Amino acid sequence: MTARIIDGRIVAGTVRAAVAARVAALGFQPGLAVVLVGEDPASAVYVRNKDRAAAAAGIAAQTVRLPADVGEAALLAEVARLNADPSVDGILVQLPLPSGIDPQRVVAAIDPGKDVDGFHPLNVGALAAGQPGLVPCTPLGVMRLLEAVGVRIAGARAVVLGRSAIVGRPMAALLLAADATVTVAHSRTRDLPAECRRAEILVAAVGRPELVRGDWIAPGAVVIDVGINRGADKRLVGDVAFAEAAAVAGAITPVPGGVGPMTIACLLENTVTAAVRRRR
Ligand code: NAD
Repeated sequence: MTARIIDGRIVAGTVRAAVAARVAALGFQPGLAVVLVGEDPASAVYVRNKDRAAAAAGIAAQTVRLPADVGEAALLAEVARLNADPSVDGILVQLPLPSGIDPQRVVAAIDPGKDVDGFHPLNVGALAAGQPGLVPCTPLGVMRLLEAVGVRIAGARAVVLGRSAIVGRPMAALLLAADATVTVAHSRTRDLPAECRRAEILVAAVGRPELVRGDWIAPGAVVIDVGINRGADKRLVGDVAFAEAAAVAGAITPVPGGVGPMTIACLLENTVTAAVRRRR
């Protein structure tokens, strides 16, 4: 079998077009504020891409740039200012933050209704409890990819590899909310290949280059690779050995060009969702 390749760029384009159409019908312009502390080059590129994508969707994006030595109190004051600004519907503080600033305290200071990253404890709790809230962008992007493939999630055996707060855990909660039978596997799981082989839907989010081999995958499974790693030759590779897996899976996301483009698209979706809810 040769897997169908799930093109995240195309699906992300569809999500972004849907966001732009929702924005056009709103009658007001939603606002997104991204707070960037320091000069981390990867973060700077990511923030620039967010700005561009937001503008293309009709969202008013602003980037608040603060020096690396800003200090926690000044950063919290900036968050409070954005919380109070009625033109700002979404606030995202770019992580990682410089040492000396507690990211949990900063995230907890964001108005949960504007928390478009979905990392605020209230939103984390809402997702865990199966209640409406704002959901982290990368797992939300994975759900949009699964919807685009047309895979039946209800009743399916789904295995999530990785239990981080930003990907694995919310991913498992979203799949559970969609009525999948969910297993979360991680670094302490006894027999990882055996767990993966049971999956009809496999989501890998471990950050280990090509950990998941072809013989870990059930024939016909849908494989979503969240990992972004530098391989030995500096090439970008996922958590899944792509060529091996594609020979067995029914559908698979490539790296790059799979989950990656979905994250920003879902950030825009969350911004519009937050804007609509705040005005209700
Ligand atoms: P993390 O390091 O916070 O968590 C990794 C998880 O994988 C942990 O729960 C750990 O238990 C598990 N793990 C680690 N090694 C393992 C092993 N050998 N066997 C089984 N489980 C193991 O990472 P993260 O933030 O969840 O990110 C995971 C990957 O996804 C990274 O490659 C990251 O770059 C990528 N990522 C991509 C996007 C995107 O937009 N596509 C967004 C976020 C993260």
